[in-house]
Amino acid sequence: MVGAGAVFDFDVLVVGAGAAGIAATGALGAAGLGVVCLEASDRIGGRVHTDTAIFGVPFDMGAHWLHNEQSNALKAPGLAMGLDLYPAPAEGVIHGLDDSAVLWDEVDELEAAGRQAARADAETEAKTGIPTDRSLADVLVEKGPWSFTAAMMFGLSIGRDLPDTSLRDVITWEGGHDWFCREGFGHLVARMAEGLPIRLATPVTDIVALPDGVRVKTQAGEIRVRAVIVTVSVGVLAAEMIRFDPPLESDRRKALDLVTMGDYNHAALLFRPGAIPVELDTWLTYQLQAGPKGIAQGGGFLCNISGTGLTSFETSGSFSRALQEAGPEAAIDHGLETLAGMFGANVQRDFIKGHATAWRKEPFVRGSYAGALPGGHSQRKVLGRAHAERVHFAGEASHVGQQCSVSGAHLEGLRAARDVIDQLG
Ligand SMILES: Cc1cc2nc3c(=O)[nH]c(=O)nc-3n(C[C@H](O)[C@H](O)[C@H](O)COP(=O)(O)OP(=O)(O)OC[C@H]3O[C@@H](n4cnc5c(N)ncnc54)[C@H](O)[C@@H]3O)c2cc1C
Repeated sequence: MVGAGAVFDFDVLVVGAGAAGIAATGALGAAGLGVVCLEASDRIGGRVHTDTAIFGVPFDMGAHWLHNEQSNALKAPGLAMGLDLYPAPAEGVIHGLDDSAVLWDEVDELEAAGRQAARADAETEAKTGIPTDRSLADVLVEKGPWSFTAAMMFGLSIGRDLPDTSLRDVITWEGGHDWFCREGFGHLVARMAEGLPIRLATPVTDIVALPDGVRVKTQAGEIRVRAVIVTVSVGVLAAEMIRFDPPLESDRRKALDLVTMGDYNHAALLFRPGAIPVELDTWLTYQLQAGPKGIAQGGGFLCNISGTGLTSFETSGSFSRALQEAGPEAAIDHGLETLAGMFGANVQRDFIKGHATAWRKEPFVRGSYAGALPGGHSQRKVLGRAHAERVHFAGEASHVGQQCSVSGAHLEGLRAARDVIDQLG
């Protein structure tokens, strides 16, 4: 599309080859535009990456669940590729509770109370004009010993502590049934990137908007394009790892203060067959204790993932952050001790090896995914707006409804690509 004699190297440059960047690059190329995608790290996928080297079986280091299969944008492409996609078990296992309805009833009540409170906050805001948005902790009712665990059924997937979580943001999240990909979710997304013009190990350092285009600086030199799509995490943006000229406007900086990276990590534990006596792909819950300031001191387990022998200890919020700071053994030991407390010492005997992720320490990501603080419920749209006309933004943080997910990131990548196609005509 870039004509002979044009001063541009490409029509469009996409920053980042995660789910959003891959979707945008594919869509722009399919529309006939000249596109290049620059990725800072030495691999594609960003926060959705399947490793097979550590355990010899697929291990999703980031995203693993295809959330809400009905509206998940990656399900149909995965099936079309012939990958083995299948539904997650409908029921989890609750250790230490004879009647699981005790917990599920509390979860349902909490969800209903949360929706009611979010509606009330929206009405108050509409009447008074004063931003009104409570936290998830504000709607937690202490009914009994399982109330906190019920609340953490939401808290765990959000990647932050209940008091730091905007109720109105969480309530927009599309529910629904999850699916898995046996080959790994990262494998699925990597297949979508095959053949795309992606340059690895090329961090973008500066983005300078010009009257008729954009100049992008990297350590390997400068590239001139007609438009840019930035898909880096809000953690990378907030840390100012990319300089913008003109600087990011104050609205977006405020949004970056209110929609921030949370913490969610896996400590994957490989066991000999039969060590964890639950069905494969089962979510295993146990009674969680609230530590100081209502912070959970534990997580949950995804057991025998796709029959590989891998069980993942999943943690979120401050607890996950503390384990990362304590080093990889801390999460592995905590997970093993918790399982041994449930199923006995055989768990330790049948343990082969473990690996803990530390997404906050990944320099080009800096956390798990973007959650809104109380008061930040309306800020995701600000993050998806274009800057200086030709600098577009996309990623999981700017989707409303599928925020924090691969599908949301993919859909945002497609949306930004459409915006650019419309703009360039
Ligand atoms: C532990 C964990 C578990 C998760 N579980 C799930 C799940 O089960 N299901 C689900 O749907 N989602 C899950 N998520 C969230 C999901 O992984 C993300 O929402 C999604 O992958 C984000 O995609 P993205 O394209 O917006 O951002 P990213 O994946 O962060 O992609 C941005 C890319 O930009 C690159 N980059 C950064 N700086 C620069 C620069 N200066 N120059 C060039 N490139 C740069 C990065 O290296 C990265 O590759 C999980 C995430 C984590 C961390």
